[in-house]
Amino acid sequence: MTGFNTNLVHGESIHDNQTGAVNIPIYNSSTYAYPSATSKVRWDYERSGNPTREFLEKQVTRLEEGKNGFAFASGMAAIHAVFAIFKPGDHILIGNQIYGGTYRILNQYFKERGISFSVVDTTKLETIEPAIQTNTKAIYFEPITNPLLHVSSVTAVAKIAKQHRLLTIVDNTFLTPYLQKPLKLGADIVVHSATKYLGGHSDVIAGLVITNSEKLGQQIYFIQNALGGVLSPESANLIRRGIQTLSVRMDRQQQNAFDIIHFLEKRPEVTKIYYPGIKGTKDYLIASHELKGFGGVLSFELGEKVDAVAFVNHLQLIRLAVSLGAVESLAELPYEMSHAELPPAERLKAGISPKLIRLAVGIEDSEDLIADLKQALEFAVNPITINQLNVQ
Ligand code: PLP
Repeated sequence: MTGFNTNLVHGESIHDNQTGAVNIPIYNSSTYAYPSATSKVRWDYERSGNPTREFLEKQVTRLEEGKNGFAFASGMAAIHAVFAIFKPGDHILIGNQIYGGTYRILNQYFKERGISFSVVDTTKLETIEPAIQTNTKAIYFEPITNPLLHVSSVTAVAKIAKQHRLLTIVDNTFLTPYLQKPLKLGADIVVHSATKYLGGHSDVIAGLVITNSEKLGQQIYFIQNALGGVLSPESANLIRRGIQTLSVRMDRQQQNAFDIIHFLEKRPEVTKIYYPGIKGTKDYLIASHELKGFGGVLSFELGEKVDAVAFVNHLQLIRLAVSLGAVESLAELPYEMSHAELPPAERLKAGISPKLIRLAVGIEDSEDLIADLKQALEFAVNPITINQLNVQ
C-alpha cells in the first residue's frame, strides 16, 4: 500500500502501450463501437461510463479508502444523487449549518416528494438521539460548518447512527480526504463539491460520492446512470489534475491561514476569529483528534465601528467571491452573499452577522495577503475611529 501523497500523484496506474502516455487521455466519445452486436463490451455510452471519469472515480475511492466512487456534474448533482436513494416516507436528520444549496434541495424538492427531515446540531451529540424517529434512515452533516468553522466528531456521530441503524452521510468538501477520511471513522457515504479543494483552481464545477459498500455503490450508480448528471471527461481530467497537488496546496493554505490569524489577532478592528486550529476551543479539541490539519478557511468578525462592506470592497489582491478551496484567496461577506437567502433573523441566529468576513486562503505569499488585509482594514475604519483605536 503506497502513501497518500503517492496516491494523489499516481492514482490508478495506466499502461498505455500504444503511446506511453503517463496521464489518462481525455476520452471524448459519447458512444463506443461494438465489435459485434452480441459482444459484451466494457464501454458503450458515456453516461454509463467513461474511461477518464472512471480514472477519477477510482482515484478518489482509493484516497477515501472506500469501495466505489462516482463523479457528477456538480456538488449539488452528487448530493441530489445521495438523497435520491431514499423513498417517500423516509426521514433524515441534517446538521444545522449545512450548505444552503443542500438545505434548499431538501426543503424545496425532496420534501415535496415525501422525504422529511429534522435539523440537529451535530456539535451537541445529546441532541441527536431525541430527534431520531421510527422512519429515520440517515444523518447528513458537514464536519466543519460554514462559515463559523465549528467541528463535529464524525466518529461520535457515526457511533450514534450505527446504534440506530442509520446511514452516516458526510459532506467533506472543506476537509477533503487529505485532512479527514470519514469512511474510516464510521461514515457510510462521503460527498464532495470537488469544485473546491479537489479541483483547486476555480476553473471547474464537479461533485463526488464515495461509499463504503457495494450495495450503496449500486444504488448511487443506478441514479448516476439513470438521472445522468455525470461529470464530463474534460472536467474529470481537471479534477484529476487538481487532486495531484492537493496536499501541497492545503499545507500552504493552512500555513497562510495561521500567518493571517497571527496578524488578525493583533488588529483592534477584529473582535473574533473562527478557525478550528485556534487552541483552547471545543472545536480545536475535536479537530486536533480527528483531522490531519485545520484547513484553509477562516472567518472573523469586525468591530461595530468597522464598515464590513467597505472592507471587502476595498480588498485588492484577495477577490470578492463566494467559492473556496482554490489557489487564489477569496473573501466574502456571508450575510450579504453566500447566506443571503436565509431570512435576516435566521442569519443572526446562526451567528452570521453583517460584520462577519469569510476568508478562503490561497497559496500566495502570506505577506502580500496580510498587506492587502491591512490596507482594507485601515480603509474600513472611519478616520476618527482610527485615532481612537490607535492603529500602529
Ligand atoms: N457542499 C458544500 C459544503 C459547498 O460549499 C458547496 C458549494 O459551495 C456544495 C456542496 C455544492 O457544490 P457545487 O457548487 O459544486 O454544486
